[in-house]
Amino acid sequence: MGAVPLLDSVWLVGSGSHPDALTDPHDCHCYLIWDGSGGVLVDTGTGLGARAWLAAVAEVCDPAALSGAIVTHYHADHAGGAAATRAAGLPVLASAETAAALATADESRTSLAAARAVGVYPSDYRLAPSTVDRVLAGGDIVRAGELDVEILDAPGHCDGHLVVLLRHAGRTILFSGDCLFAGGRVSLQAIHDCRLDRYAETVNALAGREVDVLLPGHGEPVLRDALVDIGRAAESFRRLVPPPNVLTS
Ligand SMILES: [Zn+2]
Repeated sequence: MGAVPLLDSVWLVGSGSHPDALTDPHDCHCYLIWDGSGGVLVDTGTGLGARAWLAAVAEVCDPAALSGAIVTHYHADHAGGAAATRAAGLPVLASAETAAALATADESRTSLAAARAVGVYPSDYRLAPSTVDRVLAGGDIVRAGELDVEILDAPGHCDGHLVVLLRHAGRTILFSGDCLFAGGRVSLQAIHDCRLDRYAETVNALAGREVDVLLPGHGEPVLRDALVDIGRAAESFRRLVPPPNVLTS
C-alpha cells in the first residue's frame, strides 16, 4: 500500500480498488500532483482510510508543501476526507455547492443517507463536517508548484461537480471525478441532482478540449488518446441517448 506513480508528476495515493494504493474499499481514487516543489491533491476519499492516504502522500512529498486538496464533488467517497485534510493542516478547495453541503455534513444534499440506506457505505458511516477554505468555480487556476491546474465546472453527475485539468510534459490530463470514465462511460444515479441535460452539456464541452489522459474517480485510467473515450460519450449524448453507465444494477 502506498503511492503509485501514474505519470510524470502524478501519483495515485488512495483508492477503493487499486491493490497497490488501497486505502478503504469505499474510497474513490485520490490523486497527487507534485512537481518537486509544490503540488495539490485531487479528492480525499471517505475519510475512513485517511491515515493510509496521508501516509501515501508523505511517501512522495512533504504534505505541508501542498496547496491543499481539491474536492471534485460532495459525494462522501470523494469529500468525506475533507475534515481529515484540514486536520492535517491542509486547505480544502471545492465548489460553492460542495462547501455548503460540507459545512453541515448535509446527508440529503450529498445523497449520503440514501446511499448508506442501500449499503453503499457502512451503516455507521457519517460525513464529517468541514470548512472549505477556498471556493472554486470554472476558470479558476490552482497553483501546484510550478504547474497551473485549471478548474472546470462539470455538473450532471451531481450539482457543483468540478473537474481538474493539468497541462504538463506535453500532455493534457483530465481528473474527471465521477463525470467521465474509461470507455466513455458516465455515472448516472437515481438521486435528486443527477441531471442528464447538464451532464450532456458538460461532456460535450469536455469533448471540445484536447485531452490526452483521463484519470477518473473510479476504475481504469486512460493513459493515451482519452479524447476517443470522451468523444464516445459526447456522441451518445448528441443522439440524446445517455452513454453507458459505469454503475450497474
Ligand atoms: Zn459521485
